Amino acid sequence: MNEMYRIRMMLRLITVLCVLVLFRPAAVLAMPEVTGARIGTHPDSTRLVLELSEPVPYQLFTLDKPYRVVVDFPEVRWRARHNPMRASTGLVSGFRFGLFQSDNSRVVLETNVPTFVSKHFILEAEDGNPTRFVLDLQETNRAAFAPGKMIQSSGWKSVVQRRARAPSARRPASPGRHVIVLDPGHGGVDPGTIGVTGAYEKKITLAIAREAKRLFEATGRYRVVLTRTRDVYIRLRDRFEIAHRNKAELFLSLHADSIRDRKIQGGSVYTLSNRASDKEAATLAARENKSDIIAGADLSGYAPEVSEILIDLAQGATNKESWFLAEMMVKELGRRTKLLRNSHRFAGFAVLKSPNVPSVLLELGYLSNRTDEKKLSNPAYRTRIARAMLQAIDKYFERKIKLRKS
Ligand SMILES: [Zn+2]
Repeated sequence: MNEMYRIRMMLRLITVLCVLVLFRPAAVLAMPEVTGARIGTHPDSTRLVLELSEPVPYQLFTLDKPYRVVVDFPEVRWRARHNPMRASTGLVSGFRFGLFQSDNSRVVLETNVPTFVSKHFILEAEDGNPTRFVLDLQETNRAAFAPGKMIQSSGWKSVVQRRARAPSARRPASPGRHVIVLDPGHGGVDPGTIGVTGAYEKKITLAIAREAKRLFEATGRYRVVLTRTRDVYIRLRDRFEIAHRNKAELFLSLHADSIRDRKIQGGSVYTLSNRASDKEAATLAARENKSDIIAGADLSGYAPEVSEILIDLAQGATNKESWFLAEMMVKELGRRTKLLRNSHRFAGFAVLKSPNVPSVLLELGYLSNRTDEKKLSNPAYRTRIARAMLQAIDKYFERKIKLRKS
């Protein structure tokens, strides 16, 4: 009897397991993976090979200024051990990979000369070799170079349709709470600065934003919206449009830059101006403004405006508010962290161009400096930064309320 019972229980368990394996819900099904990546040179071409867990549709196009080849896939997970992020092989002078938007992973190959895609195909897995995506690049001349020309594999259309159907997130109302938009710089295909020992700016900015959201919301005084909550690229203009859509009262963009002199450390606070406070600030703004170019996003029609730093300063009141917020940030961050000597600087950051939301950009330290990189990689230090930011916005709103009463 006892034996029978045990056998029956075993059979039942096996049935349950079979059902689970056979009828996994769609969401549990694994995302396609890139398991290997390599770039090789051939006599007249440069070849990119991505090893994949399964065949995926793709789209590719070229861009100029600088010359690039962009390859789009549905969202795929990068599991390749070799990361050719800083590789320079054959015609390819730079390689980037990351999420470009929801359900769209992107590879950007930079080239020093104009090129064209001479071959592209998916090789099905066989003889112990995995599925592979293969792309051959050949040099061409400026006259024959065709930027923006799209090539799409079969199946790409269904990816686009699926993306269009995806529901957009609803946001809850927040009566009585100030809405703050925190903007973790970079993300996805745009890594931002990569530190001396390999820390990624895009990861550090997201970690600080998350910690700040936690602290700010714990006070009950603020609702915090992040421009991104994961490792995804967001266009510069979309970042401040998120502030508008959410009727934000403040916009804070978070960054951690690098500089040639590795001894320099400390943070700084930036507000918008059409005339940079110094050469360094101008260089920094130019670099931060390149985000859309790095991600291969300048097909959208507004890139020239973003890359040229022409700012309409018909935003006097907003500028004054931004200025005051920046001063508060300098004071509070200066108490708890190391800042550069001229802590409050200004330059033409595209992400600060919002005409009616006071906006400040924080460079929280230099990833080119070992000490700063170590600090910013430490959660306790990030909490300290978030506390200082909270103190500063508290002071900002205290003053605003006082001004309203008087
Ligand atoms: Zn940055």
